Amino acid sequence: MIYHDIKTLPDYIFPGRAWHFVEQDFHPAALPETETFFSTSNGYIGMRGSFEEGDPVHLSATVINGFHETWDIVYGESAHGFAKTGQTIVNVTDAKIVRLYVDDERFFLPTANLLHFERALDFRHGTLDRNILWETPSGKRVAIRSRRLVSFEHRHLAAISYEVTVEDAAADVVLSSEVRYEHKDHDTGGDQRLGHGLRGRVLHPRMAYAADRRIVLAHGTERSGMTLACGVDHHLETACSADVDVRHGDDEGVAVFRVDAKPGEPVRLVKYMSYHSSRSRPADALCTRVERTLDRALRDGFPALEESQQGHAEDFWRRSDVTLVANPVEVDGVRPASEHMQQALRFNLFHIFQASVRAEGAGIPAKGLTGIGYEGHYVWDTEIYLIPFLAYTAPRVAKNLLRFRFGMLDQARERARELSQRGALFAWRTINGEEASAYYAAGTAQYHINADIVFALWRYVNATGDDDFLFKEGAEVLVETARLWRDLGFFSERRGGFVLAGVTGPDEYNTVVNNNFFTNVMARANLRYAALTVERMKRERPDAFRALVDRVGLEESEVADWIEAADAMYVPYDEKHGIILQDDEFLEKKPWDFDDPEMNKFPLLLNHHPLVIYRHQIIKQADVVLAMFMVGNELDLDLKRRTFDFFDPLTTGDSSLSACIQSIVASELGYAEKAVRYARYALLMDLADLGKNVKDGLHLASMGGTWMVTVYGFAGFRDHRGCFSFQPRPTAGLEQLSFPLAIRGQILDVEITQEAATYRLRPEGDPAGLVIWHEDEEIALRPGHAESRPVRRGSQWSPVPGRLPHASALE
Ligand code: BGC
Repeated sequence: MIYHDIKTLPDYIFPGRAWHFVEQDFHPAALPETETFFSTSNGYIGMRGSFEEGDPVHLSATVINGFHETWDIVYGESAHGFAKTGQTIVNVTDAKIVRLYVDDERFFLPTANLLHFERALDFRHGTLDRNILWETPSGKRVAIRSRRLVSFEHRHLAAISYEVTVEDAAADVVLSSEVRYEHKDHDTGGDQRLGHGLRGRVLHPRMAYAADRRIVLAHGTERSGMTLACGVDHHLETACSADVDVRHGDDEGVAVFRVDAKPGEPVRLVKYMSYHSSRSRPADALCTRVERTLDRALRDGFPALEESQQGHAEDFWRRSDVTLVANPVEVDGVRPASEHMQQALRFNLFHIFQASVRAEGAGIPAKGLTGIGYEGHYVWDTEIYLIPFLAYTAPRVAKNLLRFRFGMLDQARERARELSQRGALFAWRTINGEEASAYYAAGTAQYHINADIVFALWRYVNATGDDDFLFKEGAEVLVETARLWRDLGFFSERRGGFVLAGVTGPDEYNTVVNNNFFTNVMARANLRYAALTVERMKRERPDAFRALVDRVGLEESEVADWIEAADAMYVPYDEKHGIILQDDEFLEKKPWDFDDPEMNKFPLLLNHHPLVIYRHQIIKQADVVLAMFMVGNELDLDLKRRTFDFFDPLTTGDSSLSACIQSIVASELGYAEKAVRYARYALLMDLADLGKNVKDGLHLASMGGTWMVTVYGFAGFRDHRGCFSFQPRPTAGLEQLSFPLAIRGQILDVEITQEAATYRLRPEGDPAGLVIWHEDEEIALRPGHAESRPVRRGSQWSPVPGRLPHASALE
C-alpha cells in the first residue's frame, strides 16, 4: 500500500454534521476546494460554490452538461486513427452574481468585518445556504442570508434568494444583479488530468435583450455549433422604497436595485436563472424557452421551489440513504468521529444525486458538474462506479444513462471501422460520442469500455428485471460489442486459447499489453451475455428478435462464434506464484524500488516519463483486483487471496478509482483492517483532498465507490446471476450499517449490526416477495416482514451463490 497518508482530514474547517456540510468561518486559503465542495447541480446545470458577490474567487464556473466546444488536436507526430477532435466543456454565462453595497461600501468578504459567517450545503433541503453578519466600516450591522438552489424539479432553472437586513440603522442598500459571459483561460499547469483547457473567447454573442427586470443573453460556440440561452429575472420583496435600473450589452446585463433600507426591515431579492442549450435550435427558440421557464418560476415563487427541492431530496434519501454508526478506531493515527464518516458518506451520495438526477440526454462527467477537470468528459467511471448505486436506488436514472450511452452506437460503429474492426468500439473519453482521448495508450486502447457498458446494462437489467429495455434497446449494443471482441481477438495456438492482444486494462500504468486479465474476462462476459440475450429473444420475443436481425444483419453462425471465443478465452496465470497475472508480460518487468525516494514521487504520472512507469511492476489502480470483484463468482477464494496478496502492495492508488475496490476485495478475504483503511481513504478522497486536486472537481467515481464499499464490502452484497446474496462482515470499527436496495420493483431494507443482519421488504412490494441469500442460506422474504440472521465475525467469505466455475458472471 503506497497510499498517501490521510492525516489531513480538516476537522477545523468542517465540523461533522449528519445532514449538512458546513463551513463556519471564512477560509480564503481554502477557496479552490470549498468552491468544489459547495457546488450545486441537478445534472444539467452545474454551479460551483463561488460566492454571489463574484469575488474573491478561484474559478467561478457554471457548466451545462454536454455543452462543449471542439478543437483540433495537434500531434507532433500523428498516425492513422488518432482522435482528431478535442471536446471541452465550456464555462458558460455566469448568472449567479449579486453584488451588495451598503452606503456605497462594497461588501467584500476578505476585508469585511465578519461578526458571523456560516455556509452550509443542506443535504435534506437541496440548498446552499449562507448566513453572515457584517459590520460595515461605519459600524452598521448588516445580516445577509442567501440560499441558492439548482432545481431538481425544473431542469433548466436555478434560483438565489439574497436577503439583506440592516439591523440597527437606516442605510442605502444597492443590490447589483449581474449576468455575464467572460472567458478566462484556465491554466492547466501541465497537469494532464485537467486536459486541454480552452483559450480565448469561446462563446460568441447571438442575441441579447432586456425587458422590465428580465435579461436574456444567447451565445453560440464556433466549432461545435452549439447554442446556449441564459436568462435571469428578479422579484424584490421589501417594505422599503426601491427602484431598479436594467442595462445590457452583448455579453452582460445588470439589474441594479436601490433600496432605502429601514432598520430591521428585510430586503429580499429573488433571482431566477434559466439555461437552455441545443445543437440544432436557433438562439431565438432557446430564448423563448428561457422566457417560459422564467415565467413559470415567477408565477410559482421561491417557496414553491424550495418545497419541491426538499421533496426531491427527501425522496432521494428514502431510496438511497446509508446510515452508519462507526466506532472511532484509530487507523494511521487518525480517529475520525462517527459523525464525520456519516457526513462524508452522505456528502458523497448527495453529490452523485446532484450530478445525475436530471442528466437526461447526457452522461455524468468524471467530475460531475463541479469543475472543469477532465474537460467534462464521460468515461467508464459511470458504468462501473456509479451505475451499481443508481441501478439499486434510482433505476430510472440508471436507465437514462444507459440509453444516452447507447445513443452513441453509430459513432462507436464508425470508430470500430477506423480501427479496422467489425462491430462497435465506444470512445474512451467523450462528450459527443467521438473519441476525444489524444493519448491512445491510456485512452482508445482501453477496449474494456465496451464490456463495462455491457456490464452496466446487465447490472441494471438484473436489478430491475427490465427485459423490455434489454431486448428493445440493449440488444443491438450487445451484438455490436460482441462482434468487436470476436473480431479483435484470435485463437492462438501458442497460448491454446482465444487471446486479445494490444489492449490497455483499467490500470493506466501498464499500457498496450497482451491478454489483460480484466479485459479478457469482461470480454468473455460480454460475449456470453450477447449470445444468451439473442437466444432468449429468439425464444421469448420472436418479433423483437426478427427486428434485431433485420437491423444489424445478424447471422446465426455469429452467435456460435461468440460462444466459441468466450469458451476458449485465454486467462493469464502464473504457475509458480499460483496467481492470476494482470497481463502476459507483467512479470517480465522490473520490480519497483520502493526505497528510492527519487522514484517514489506520487502521482507517478506527473513525475516520470510514461516509459519509466511502463517498464516496472507498478500499478496505478485496481485492475486484476477489480476483475476479482466483477466476476468474482468465476474464481476460487484461495486464488483470489494469492492474487490480491501479490498485486495489492504494487498498487499506488494514483487513481481515485482504486481504494474502494481494494476495500471490497479485502473485506471478502477477511482482511478487516485493510478493508477499513481503504474504505476510509475512498470516503475521504475529496473531503480530505487526498488526490490534491479537489479544486478541479469532485471524484464522482470514488464517491460511487464508497457506496460500493459499504454495500458490496462491509455488507457483503453480491448480485451474480440473479442471486442477491449477503455475507456481512462489519469490522471492529463499524457498529451499525443500514441501507435500502431497490430490487425487481421492491425495496429491501438491510440493517447490519455486530451481531445480526436484518432483511426487511417494504410492505408496498410484490406479494410474491423476494428470495435472497444470507451466507449459504436461502431466505424467502415476504413484503412487510423481517428476517434476522447472526453475523459471522472476521472470517473470509464462503463461495458466493451464483457461482459456476466455468460459466458466465452474467446471466
Ligand atoms: C483513471 C481512469 C478514470 C479517470 C477519470 C484516471 O486517473 O485512471 O480510470 O477513468 O481518471 O476518473
